[in-house]
Amino acid sequence: MCKIFNSYIEKDEIMKYQKVGDVVIVKKELNKDEINEIINKTKCKTIVLYTTQITGEFRAPHIKILYGSETETIHKEYGCLFKLDVSKIMWSQGNIKERVRMAHISNENETVIDMFAGIGYFTIPLAKYSKPKLVYAIEKNPIAYHYLCENIKLNKLNNVTPILSDNREVKLKDVADRVIMGYVHKTHKFLDKAFEFLKDRGVIHYHETVAEKIMFERPIERLKFYSKKNNYKLLNYKIVKIKKYAPGVWHIVVDAEFKKL
Ligand code: SAM
Repeated sequence: MCKIFNSYIEKDEIMKYQKVGDVVIVKKELNKDEINEIINKTKCKTIVLYTTQITGEFRAPHIKILYGSETETIHKEYGCLFKLDVSKIMWSQGNIKERVRMAHISNENETVIDMFAGIGYFTIPLAKYSKPKLVYAIEKNPIAYHYLCENIKLNKLNNVTPILSDNREVKLKDVADRVIMGYVHKTHKFLDKAFEFLKDRGVIHYHETVAEKIMFERPIERLKFYSKKNNYKLLNYKIVKIKKYAPGVWHIVVDAEFKKL
């Protein structure tokens, strides 16, 4: 297992900022002194304010620039390079452990489908460290897709096929040993497609945001419902907490193994 190195992300608990590449993201307006303090501490080229919560199908942020002008940057994390424009594309620091976990989840014999690839949040570390035969990385947003392609090149990967499409339009059947569903809100609506991608036996990484009270029931009920509908049996599963999403709500992922009936 590789060690974490050269992650440039920094989080200051008092100022509440995160540094992505050489851009700092804040979530509240800052006065001149606070801006100067961040510039001195981080040597950043730009400071952007995320003005609202990141929502919507493409998870695009709404921003205001507080300092500087350039919003495109290269973020280094766990030995991987991620180029992105923080004014157009989200970066979730809270998902770092999951990106690292996904790096080592696969192996050289597998074909993987990343249904919501974004700029390669999971695809890049997984392709680099697990070295599967192939990762199909599907992304619908042309801007995120552009950076996904850049990141495949930047990380010198030759085992990733990027696909610009809504994943529901992609015609790949019975090809995946592993399907990653790194998307929250209505993820279950994409489970039929995930089973279409899956081989007779395989694993789905199913993400959900769910109230703590029903965290151990609802995702499993949904997985059982859709597996039955698609003629699969749930063999075993593990629930992993990713982060607190809102008060009383968790972002979780279920690693679920299925077999065709
Ligand atoms: N898992 C990511 C992380 O670790 O930070 C965050 C989620 S990622 C931003 C979700 C991506 O799914 C977005 O880039 C969005 O454009 C894409 N997406 C949403 N619906 C899609 C669909 N139907 N087909 C393909 N991509 C889709």
